[in-house]
Amino acid sequence: MIDRRREQIIGDETRAYMSSNCITTGILTQARASWRSGDLGAGISYAKAAALANCDRCQEPCALYARLQQALFFALIRRIDEARQILDEVTANPAIRDDPKFTAITTLVEAKITLVNGDLVDAAAQSEIGLQLANEVGLTAWTPLGNLILATTALRRGELSTSIYYANRLKEDAVFGREMLSAGQSAWIVIQVTEAEKGREHAAMLARELLESEATTRSLLTDEPSAIPWLVRLMISHRRPDLARYGVRLSERLAAENPDVPEIAAAALHGAGLLEEDIDMLRRAADMHTDPWGRALAVEDIGMLLAEGREGCPEAVENLELAMRSYAEMGSLRDSSRVRSGLRCINANPQSQARFWPSSGIPGLTDTEYAVAKLVSNGLTNGQAANQMFLSRHTVAFHLRKIFQKIGVKSRLELAVMWNELAADAGNVRARSGVGESGAPSTRDDDLSKLIPRQLRAG
Ligand SMILES: [Zn+2]
Repeated sequence: MIDRRREQIIGDETRAYMSSNCITTGILTQARASWRSGDLGAGISYAKAAALANCDRCQEPCALYARLQQALFFALIRRIDEARQILDEVTANPAIRDDPKFTAITTLVEAKITLVNGDLVDAAAQSEIGLQLANEVGLTAWTPLGNLILATTALRRGELSTSIYYANRLKEDAVFGREMLSAGQSAWIVIQVTEAEKGREHAAMLARELLESEATTRSLLTDEPSAIPWLVRLMISHRRPDLARYGVRLSERLAAENPDVPEIAAAALHGAGLLEEDIDMLRRAADMHTDPWGRALAVEDIGMLLAEGREGCPEAVENLELAMRSYAEMGSLRDSSRVRSGLRCINANPQSQARFWPSSGIPGLTDTEYAVAKLVSNGLTNGQAANQMFLSRHTVAFHLRKIFQKIGVKSRLELAVMWNELAADAGNVRARSGVGESGAPSTRDDDLSKLIPRQLRAG
């Protein structure tokens, strides 16, 4: 029933632009319904049929909406080349070249493709632009996609306040019925942000509720297969192997129903490998994953399983370092920090030179101190910063004292003020207190680090 309501809303939104008896929109509704029921092949076929329907009842080129839906479906099942090809073809169409609505949608679809491909930095930048355009033309049905991408990229990059901001926007989207996403996708990002903000206990409670709903879990595993190993980890650590097993079973069933989607099978195998503590299954899952984040997660799980009870096991260290590098390459600093902390736990010194936090750029401040200063200036407590960086609260307090000494401030407020002044001087108003002109926290404050040395020398 909820799904019917959602279809209705998407229908209304589209009808604002389309004729009320648009043939394409009718078939697209079928496409989305099939997709949500877990029949991905039928979803793609209907979207293709919608694009070829030759509707002559609309002023708008409605077939192009259908093509973009098709691109989004391809992105979700990691058929990146096909998704890009459709997107290129749509953007090159002269009929919509200067149409702000289509520019907003194509930019958001591009951001999704970029994210799925594992480039967090570009995905965030594209999504910010797409979301701004969508807001300007009042295209509310598409804002959830932008909010989801920005909540995800910020979370993985270790920008907690930004990810909380966009997760809250997603909750607003739900309240106002702007749900182009499946319920599972929104729920999963909220669970992940909750884990970062409030800890695993809170997240586990929400995850339990998610897994107890078959329809919501199925919709999640359709759109984000790699969610399953993450949820299995969480449920195992909270002594609910029954729910972990239930999630894996749903995932296996979905994989059997969709044999053409290797990522779903990889995620199902990955989840089962975690449950059975089976290295061989995890290795096969790592090979099968087409999603770079899912693959890194599997390599990390192999490392952690090998390391159990064996300090400094060389093969475990090798896998953990590989996972750490993979996360760092895609810009997933939160994940790479977690693995680094895992390496410390097994008494192995990370050999890799991969970067875990943004380069300091401030003479005398280490990269870790820079990261602490940035988080604290954004209003995070020591506990929250510790959680973000997988350090103890005590260690964060220690780094903070060093930062105060080095920069010459006496309190976190003074530190934040100084940080914000530097941001304002840079003309980078959006970085000020992490909030931009539109009220949205900026995901880009790289320029700030370049400016700070001069300021410090002047002071
Ligand atoms: Zn039409």
